[in-house]
Amino acid sequence: MDITELSKKILQADRRALARAITLVESARADHRAQADALLSELAKSDRQALRIGLSGTPGVGKSTFIEAFGMMLIEQGLRVAVLAVDPSSARSGGSILGDKTRMERLSRERAAFIRPSPSQSHLGGVARRTRDAVALCEAAGFDVVLIETVGVGQSETVVSELSDLFLLLLAPAGGDELQGVKRGIMEIADMILINKADGDLKATATRTCADYAGALRLLRKRPQDPEGFPKALTVSAIEAAGLDQAWEEIQALAGWRRENGFWDKNRAQQAQYWFAEEVRQALLSRLQTSWAKSRMADLSAQVAGGAQTPQDAARDMLLGLGVGDVDPS
Ligand code: GDP
Repeated sequence: MDITELSKKILQADRRALARAITLVESARADHRAQADALLSELAKSDRQALRIGLSGTPGVGKSTFIEAFGMMLIEQGLRVAVLAVDPSSARSGGSILGDKTRMERLSRERAAFIRPSPSQSHLGGVARRTRDAVALCEAAGFDVVLIETVGVGQSETVVSELSDLFLLLLAPAGGDELQGVKRGIMEIADMILINKADGDLKATATRTCADYAGALRLLRKRPQDPEGFPKALTVSAIEAAGLDQAWEEIQALAGWRRENGFWDKNRAQQAQYWFAEEVRQALLSRLQTSWAKSRMADLSAQVAGGAQTPQDAARDMLLGLGVGDVDPS
């Protein structure tokens, strides 16, 4: 594959080239990996930045419906929108909660939109890394907004928050007692909580739920990266496309404030450091996956069990064998 040519086409916002490039970064083949790295380095020279918005919510809360309505609204305003997914279920079972092709039908027909389901990988780290590369490719292709969607389970929110400038949590209307069900850690990374389905019979409950969350958010420590009044809770109806313009205004206000106050750049710099450390960790872990490493581990493990070696001596043997050297545990 001609990387220079592919890079040029991506910079010209060619969606087919973008799709090919994402397939390339998702490939596990070593030669593809090398090409992908070359492409990403080439494209890193373009200083285009999208607004990266992370969006999390449990299945059924209305993520696809929201993204479709929200994305359509942005497109009507002349913006280009990419949608990517981080789906931990695809890592576990190979099946995907977010991969359904019929989702976001209207949006997927728009020329100004680009939708890509979650890569299927054997572990969340792999999904996250490929998605991070896909975000970089979408940015180089000049998308104004990149929405990164995830299902509210496990570690995926943390991963998505390391990929985004802003993090939205979508919730359904519910009784106040269910407020406890949202893990505190997630409340802490959310920049905005959107209570969806604020329509019809559910409208009153949604308004109450929103007030409950607004109260809970006020109890959290004010974060330096936030202007007055954030994080916020708002009601929306994805089906009626209500409240979406207000949500977008708040998002822009928050993003603008962070840009002016230096938090935007600082956050991206910290994210780059996170991914650097993650890359090193993953590379080291992958060395344990070769068949040589697995059988050596098994041998040494048997020796440890039989008392022939202490755990630390066996570990040193293993690390030397891996070429990591004699690691000083201090
Ligand atoms: P996802 O699993 O989070 O992607 O949720 P979906 O977007 O597939 O929506 C799940 C269900 O909730 C569907 O039956 C939607 O029609 C419904 N739904 C989504 N948004 C709204 C909304 O704003 N109001 C109402 N009443 N129902 C909604």
